[in-house]
Amino acid sequence: MSVPANLYATWRATRPGATQLHEDGPPPERLLQAVWQHQRVLRDALQLADGRAVRVLHPGFHNREPGPDFRDALVQFGNETPLRGDIEIDLVTSGWRAHKHDVNPGFRAVVLHVIWDGAGTDGLPTLSLKSRLDAPLGELADWFGGDDALRPGGLTGLCCGPLSELPREQLDALLQQAALVRLQLKAGQLAARARQGGWERALWEGLFTALGYKHNVWPMRRLAELAGACTEPLSVELWQARLSGWSGLLPAELPRGRGADADYLRRLWDAWWRERERFGDVILPRTAWRMSGLRPANQPLRRLALAAHWLASRDLPTRLERWFTREVPESALAGSLLELLQPATDEFWGWHWTLKSPRLKKAQPPLGEARLTDLAVNVVLPWLWARAAAGRNEALLKTAEARYLAWPAGEDNATLRLARERLFAGRPPRGLFLHAAAQQGVLQIVRDFCEHSNALCEHCRFPELVRRVK
Ligand code: SF4
Repeated sequence: MSVPANLYATWRATRPGATQLHEDGPPPERLLQAVWQHQRVLRDALQLADGRAVRVLHPGFHNREPGPDFRDALVQFGNETPLRGDIEIDLVTSGWRAHKHDVNPGFRAVVLHVIWDGAGTDGLPTLSLKSRLDAPLGELADWFGGDDALRPGGLTGLCCGPLSELPREQLDALLQQAALVRLQLKAGQLAARARQGGWERALWEGLFTALGYKHNVWPMRRLAELAGACTEPLSVELWQARLSGWSGLLPAELPRGRGADADYLRRLWDAWWRERERFGDVILPRTAWRMSGLRPANQPLRRLALAAHWLASRDLPTRLERWFTREVPESALAGSLLELLQPATDEFWGWHWTLKSPRLKKAQPPLGEARLTDLAVNVVLPWLWARAAAGRNEALLKTAEARYLAWPAGEDNATLRLARERLFAGRPPRGLFLHAAAQQGVLQIVRDFCEHSNALCEHCRFPELVRRVK
């Protein structure tokens, strides 16, 4: 059977994700991003709108989260000292203001605005690419093809070679060592807080901070401080009302509606408005919270509702200690901690992402597996390790470390993805990341080495460290 002529080319041109180019308009922004990432430009002829030459020492790392398009680039203008910072890509100059980047703190580290065509951006070095491509636009669109072209490429770090030569056993051991350093650093942080306010308050601050995930760490930490100072026993609903009120995220108006959900909202609202005057000076401004780009499960009020269950029970620290000192098989570690931290029921938050969202078709437990692992490796086990260290209890120290090293892997994230590209060329040995400790080890390497170097791995001593392992 013969293959029809141009079958492959025809299929490729019409596959989902193929770039449709309008010859008379600007290219799609994703094509422009791909051009920048792969530097499909006349690199020796780049010029800012103000006439200075631009040398791109590293285009930066493609950012898949909210914020500038590329992070941690290295660029040089004229003969000036090279600048390290972020790159934002827009089709036109006005995109900078139109997208409100000029007032967004997340864009403060932008050192270069790359545009398709237009004049310079106020107060920001601007580079137009329209007349600086290394091939006609149509050819580039064909090369770009689809989303795959934005896959990280050319990101491999200098440690990648030495790491790939390490025997598997030694690689595992190296990552475990880095992970244990991370465990102890986190424990040290909690112990320092305990010296100020006691072990329980240190635990609450750690738990709340972890519930804030990365976007709302600081307001959550503030709420933990407030909660830690409250000694009166409160029901779950009263804690939910108080935490929501302190957060400043409760709606100003009494919610309307009928039914069980509306009743809950009304009780919450009533309880808070009775206390509002007493706590008026500690209510956080809404601007303390970052709400954009949050997954539904990470909505702060939902997280606070979960914390309210723990606070109302009044014995969470004791239950954690009991869990720690009883025998738990490795395979039951996550399940047994989840049982302890998951509220038996929450009639409202088990069925809603936010106060205003409609009732879900299927119940969503307030605590998911990904957040459980975060809590375990970032707070619970470091807290237990710190307590064992304070009591000089070698056996419990070993238990904390054994549970930490055996904990199943957590959710992937952008930092881990980038680290895999840099350290393992995107192809880590099979099964390397089955446990959270390997992920934590890599995060610690990023913290200790990548964050102190740059995209070119200048002055990084990690490759040398890896060579020493052999
Ligand atoms: S900065 Fe160091 S640890 Fe990071 S990728 Fe480069 S060589 Fe590896």
